[in-house]
Amino acid sequence: SADQLRIDRPAADQRSVDPLSVELRDVHLAFGRNRVLRGVDLEVPAGSTTCVIGPSGSGKSTLLRVVNRLLEPDRGDVLLGGRSVLRDDPDELRRHVGMVFQHFNLFPHKTVADNVALGPRTLLGLSRDEARSRALTHLESVGLAHKADVRPSSLSGGQQQRVAIARALAMDPRIMLFDEATSALDPELVKGVLAIMRDLGASGLTMLVVTHEMGFAREAADQVAFMDQGVVAEHAAPDVLFERPASERLRRFLSRVL
Ligand code: ADP
Ligand code: MG
Repeated sequence: SADQLRIDRPAADQRSVDPLSVELRDVHLAFGRNRVLRGVDLEVPAGSTTCVIGPSGSGKSTLLRVVNRLLEPDRGDVLLGGRSVLRDDPDELRRHVGMVFQHFNLFPHKTVADNVALGPRTLLGLSRDEARSRALTHLESVGLAHKADVRPSSLSGGQQQRVAIARALAMDPRIMLFDEATSALDPELVKGVLAIMRDLGASGLTMLVVTHEMGFAREAADQVAFMDQGVVAEHAAPDVLFERPASERLRRFLSRVL
């Protein structure tokens, strides 16, 4: 249960909001005749980290967009904290979900702090001072408080991605989604971003992480889901999934990426 997870994770006390569980039930979605999600079932308990791995085109990004309501499923349901995003005040539920993309899309003409403060000001209605102070707190948590007043273009890709994480955290999400957050980064910058993601997971946030970083999935995930051709084909704890893949298609995928 969520309570048990919290006992195992003392850092969760530091979070101001409780994490929410994520559940996909028989989710189907097609783009025209391309049936991209073909009955996805997946459960991420509150406060745990699930990594999603799988070949390009298997539907991983589409799955995240369905959780974040950027896309609506044709069939099936998505539950956040047990409440359906299709039926239960979807806009309210969506506010609890933070997302970090491969391309961070910071506003180039705004300072780092203003990028992070924008959501809290415009969407949460915080005053200028409150929003700045919140932005600084979250920049501090990703090690970038000293860059608050520079423009994003003067930062490395890894630092810009850490700002994008701070921007998402400043909205007090109860679920964080990551879509190949390190894929666009130079190799030497990947580690710092993964370390922050690992800390976030350990702090008790619910994390759904699409990644090519098998080392990260192995170490940081409570569960790993292997997506193939629009379904979750295998779903297990990382040691089980990586050491004893049940299907030929997972064995083949792992032999290509490991
Ligand atoms: P992955 O993230 O696993 O690489 P995606 O979810 O991005 O896979 O894409 C799965 C399939 O859906 C691909 O065939 C892709 O071309 C198609 N697709 C994704 N987004 C769209 C879209 N907005 N319109 C049409 N087809 C799309
Ligand atoms: Mg993708």
